[in-house]
Amino acid sequence: MDMTRLRGIGVSPGIAIGEVLLAKRVVFTSRKEIIADDQVPDEIKRLHQALERTRADLARVKESVREKMGPDSSLIFEAHLLILEDPTLVGGLEAVIRDEKARAEWALSKANARYEQLFESLTDDYFRQRKSDVSDVLKRVYRNLETKREKEKAPQKQHILVAHELLPSEAALRLSKELTLGVVLDVGGGTSHTAILARSLGIPAVLGLRDVTRQVREGELIIVDGTDGEVIIDPPPAVRREFQAKKEKYENYGRELQKTAKLKSETLDRVRFIPQANIELPEEVDLALSMGAEGIGLFRSEFIYLRRESLPTEEDHFEIYTRLARSAHPYPVTIRTLDIGGEKSLPQLNIEKEPNPALGLRAVRFSLRNRDLFRIQLRAILRASAGKNVRILVPMVTEVDEILEVKDIFEDVKKELRRKGEAFDEKIPFGIMIEVPAAAALADVMLKEVDYVSIGTNDLIQYYLAVDRSNEFVSYLFKPFHPAVIRLIRSVIQAARKAEKDVIVCGEMAADTPSAIVLLGFGLRTFSMNPIFIPRIKKALRSVECRTAEKIAEETLKLRSAQEIEEYVTEEILLRHPQVFLTGQPVEAAPKK
Ligand code: PEP
Ligand code: MG
Repeated sequence: MDMTRLRGIGVSPGIAIGEVLLAKRVVFTSRKEIIADDQVPDEIKRLHQALERTRADLARVKESVREKMGPDSSLIFEAHLLILEDPTLVGGLEAVIRDEKARAEWALSKANARYEQLFESLTDDYFRQRKSDVSDVLKRVYRNLETKREKEKAPQKQHILVAHELLPSEAALRLSKELTLGVVLDVGGGTSHTAILARSLGIPAVLGLRDVTRQVREGELIIVDGTDGEVIIDPPPAVRREFQAKKEKYENYGRELQKTAKLKSETLDRVRFIPQANIELPEEVDLALSMGAEGIGLFRSEFIYLRRESLPTEEDHFEIYTRLARSAHPYPVTIRTLDIGGEKSLPQLNIEKEPNPALGLRAVRFSLRNRDLFRIQLRAILRASAGKNVRILVPMVTEVDEILEVKDIFEDVKKELRRKGEAFDEKIPFGIMIEVPAAAALADVMLKEVDYVSIGTNDLIQYYLAVDRSNEFVSYLFKPFHPAVIRLIRSVIQAARKAEKDVIVCGEMAADTPSAIVLLGFGLRTFSMNPIFIPRIKKALRSVECRTAEKIAEETLKLRSAQEIEEYVTEEILLRHPQVFLTGQPVEAAPKK
């Protein structure tokens, strides 16, 4: 067979070269096998035995994931067990067997088709992707209908896992740091469970390849380039050598970069900066610290709600925040209150669909309308602050009155805790996100009401340039270096510095090398980003002089377009501090002043 090159979505960086291990696929039957009347009770019994086996399997998976990755990661299997207990689901399966005199396989196939249709009709991307959770459970039951099912043997040697789709439970069980060199799937995107898991285990992965399972054979040699989103089937020796070299270079660079974790966060001219991490799960704290994070600059608390079926209780919140605060201690942890509403609706609540969700009842607007929920979260954050390293952050503020209202509630919750004799940090820093242009324009006024501000460039750019951040048709217009954007961000940084209050940038812009240097030049010192980008940004900032960054940043204000700015900044950095862009070079080799 000749070499085939396929393009997909690179969701976990790195390169893997190895032999294909094709995962078996469960295909629901499309044939309705009819049974006799007197066989119905036995068939229902057969269904229940499969349900029972699935329950036992899931409990086992849950336990093993809990051990490997902590209690929060195993929550998904709690949800799967609940799906399995759902009387509507089980009653519906029995009804099909009884009424249609059909095999259990047919009942499951019908149920799966119905749920698929239901989930496909949802507009919310996150919940559409949850279709795979129900499907995961139904497929497990389907597989468990075969009593003498040939167990797929656990692989003994290193391999590249190729599958149509990996159900969440399969991903959690099958992906192993030691044996899985890479992952390749027909389906899936960047926010799928497999992607998240592959990234946290450091396994290169390319998803969304459509029909790769039909193009490869078991045992065939394949290359996975998770950085560029490419898969190469049956590469000739020359291509293999090329990628082997690329792999070594990538790994060397990674090792060198990671050494920065232990080095001081300061520029060549000894100006101190603070790299921090944006995380969604408490389990990510360890990874963040190992990458050199000096604190959690953003904990997106909405994931607590999105990962469970029912509303989290105060104790659920408290447990998660306490774990976060303890694992990051003595570094600070910034807990952002619920940023949900509009597009990211909560399944636990009946939130009405809005015509224009990005401009709707989001974030703090939602919290102020749902005060009981808000108070629960505030109480838990306060209680978790007793160790004095928790900061609170309120998203999407548009006007001063919102800050005052939140502060009123916050003070009231504090009073309640004092009355009950509960410990909390009386000096807990209170901050807001600057992500609506109006808030940026009013930053000097808002700063009087808060202890610090955090600039969310993802939303700020979306709203300032009127470019939907998740619409690929206009993504070419989403420009962090748009002259209007950098002026606005500079004004917020300057206002914060004048007010002698902390300012953080926690949008994606902080993780882009040229942008980070310009932000440094504008006076920013705290950069919060996805942990995997910290070593790169730390190395870049360690390789420049702050003085130079200031000059470069000031010059950008004279330019008229994002392209001019981007070119200017890149050229200047290359000229003055080429070390910033060099890959594979020892970090220590950076010229010292
Ligand atoms: C932002 O808007 O830049 C931000 C960090 O928040 P999120 O990406 O969660 O909206
Ligand atoms: Mg935002």
